[in-house]
Amino acid sequence: MMFFDMADPCIICGDCIGEYRSEGHDMTEITPSLLYSMRFIVFSPVDRIYKLEIKSDDLKNLSALTEKYLLRQLDRNFRTLDYYRSVKL
Ligand SMILES: [Zn+2]
Repeated sequence: MMFFDMADPCIICGDCIGEYRSEGHDMTEITPSLLYSMRFIVFSPVDRIYKLEIKSDDLKNLSALTEKYLLRQLDRNFRTLDYYRSVKL
């Protein structure tokens, strides 16, 4: 298993996670297939990104991870996003 470090964006392996957690880093667990999708998005030319095939579980986790990361980097909330969260089933 691998982990994404929200505070200091990088990927950490399962052997090293204890060290990061003890330092209080906000770590998000990612599966190998999710890591593949993340790498595909980052390293592909724009016109190839839409060729990514992603499992629905990975898509849900990727969406949650990227939203969390974006909000953390921007260091603010969005009222419309909060509203969307409040009405979403
Ligand atoms: Zn390691």
